Amino acid sequence: MTEFYHSVTLDETKCVGCTNCIKRCPTEAIRVRGGKAVIASERCIDCGECIRICPHHAKRARFTHLSKLSEFEYNIALPAPSLYGQFNNLDDIDYVLTGLKEMGFDDIFEVSRAAELVSEATRKLMEEGELKRPVISSACPAVVRLIRVRFPDLCEHVLPLKSPMETAAAIAKKEAAEKTGLPADKIGCFFLTPCPAKVTDIKMPLGIEKSMVDGAIAISEVFPELSHVMDHLESIEPIANSGIIGVGWSTSGGESAALLNEKYLAADGIENVIRVLEEIEDERIGELDFIELNACAGGCVGGVLCVENPYVAKARIQRLRKYLPVSQNHLRGGPVPEVMEWNTNLEFSDVLTLSSDLKEAMQMMARIDEIEKEFPGLDCGACGAPTCRAFAEDVVKGMSRKAECIFVYRKQMQQVANTLSELECGVPLLPKDKD
Ligand code: SF4
Ligand code: SF4
Repeated sequence: MTEFYHSVTLDETKCVGCTNCIKRCPTEAIRVRGGKAVIASERCIDCGECIRICPHHAKRARFTHLSKLSEFEYNIALPAPSLYGQFNNLDDIDYVLTGLKEMGFDDIFEVSRAAELVSEATRKLMEEGELKRPVISSACPAVVRLIRVRFPDLCEHVLPLKSPMETAAAIAKKEAAEKTGLPADKIGCFFLTPCPAKVTDIKMPLGIEKSMVDGAIAISEVFPELSHVMDHLESIEPIANSGIIGVGWSTSGGESAALLNEKYLAADGIENVIRVLEEIEDERIGELDFIELNACAGGCVGGVLCVENPYVAKARIQRLRKYLPVSQNHLRGGPVPEVMEWNTNLEFSDVLTLSSDLKEAMQMMARIDEIEKEFPGLDCGACGAPTCRAFAEDVVKGMSRKAECIFVYRKQMQQVANTLSELECGVPLLPKDKD
C-alpha cells in the first residue's frame, strides 16, 4: 500500500464535526464520521482549502521549523517571491534578503531568479513545438496533483519542467558546494513557502525522483522575527538579483506574461481552476497555447501560509516591480539544460476510480445511480459526505449505510411506525392485554 505524506492534517481535539470543510474539498477527500472530519489520504492534494474554511482551526499545515537549520553546516534560504508582498512600504527587496541573513541563513537564493530561468526554458520548449497544446503550467503542485487524480487525459499537457523552487535549490546547492567546499549533505536549502502543497511537494515530488530542498518553512513562521529584524537593520547588503519577470510569478498571470505569447489564459482559485480543466478536457479551449493555473486566489500570494490579504500583497508586488529591471537571469544558448527537466512522467492516479475491473466498475456505477435516487438530492452534508452522489458512492463501497441519511432514516422510522400501527389495529390483542 502506498504511503502518503500530507502537510494538511486534522487536529481532532478542535474538530466539532460541523461539515463546513467537506463541500470545499476539490477531490471530495473529507468525510465526517463519528462527529470528526476524516481525510482520505490518497485523495488529498494539500490545496489548503479546508484550512481556509474551517471556523474552528481544526485543519492545519505541517511545515519545517527554523530549528532544522542546526542540522546543516551551511544554510541557504530560498524565498518565494510572495514573501515580498507581506511587507508594507517595501521598496527594496534587499531589506528582506538582508533580514534573512541576520536571522541565521548563510546565503540567499531568490526563487524568482530560478523563475526567470524556467520562463526562458518554457519559451524554448514551446518554440520547439513538441509539447501537447495547450501546455499547462506545472508550477502549482496542488494543480498538478488535481490533474493527476481528476483529469487523467490532461497529464500529458503538463509542462515537464521543474518548478522554480527545485531549480533554485539545484543551482544554490551547486554554487554553495563550490564556494564552501562542503559536501551537498552539509548544505541545507530551505524554501520559504506560502502554501502546504509545496511542503508535500518536497516530501513526495512529482516529475522528479527526489527533491533537492531540505525543508519548507512557512512564511507565517518567519514573518514575525523577520519583520522585527528588518526594522533594526543597520546596513543593507546588495543581494537581490531578479527582475519583474521572476517576482511576477508570485501573482496570477505573472508566469504566463513572462512567455511573451498572447495566446494564454491564467486562472486562480480552485473552483476556477477546475472549470478551466473541464473546458480543456472537453476540448473547448483549443486556440490557446499556455494555461497558467493557481489553486489559490490571486496566485501564490493567496497561499494559506501567507500572513497578508492576497489582494493587498498583490498590490504591493505590483508597486515593487516598478523598481526592478525586466529580467536578470538567462539561460545560455542551446537546448534547455537537462537539470531543469522532469525525469519521470506524470502518471494518472486512479484513486477516484471505482474498480480496476471495468465490468465491476460499471456495475458499481449503476448501483450508485440507483441508490442516489433514494436520497433527496439536497446535498445537505448531514450524512458526513459532501453530496448525495458521494454518499451513494460511499454506500456502494461499503463505507456507509443508507440509514445514515436522515431522510432515509426518517422514512424507515415512518415505515416502522406504520407497521406497528397496523399491527395494533389488525392483530387480535393478547389475553393479558384485555384487562
Ligand atoms: S470545518 Fe471540518 S475540520 Fe473544521 S470543525 Fe468543521 S468538520 Fe471539523
Ligand atoms: S487540503 Fe484540499 S484536498 Fe486535502 S482535504 Fe483539504 S480541501 Fe481536500
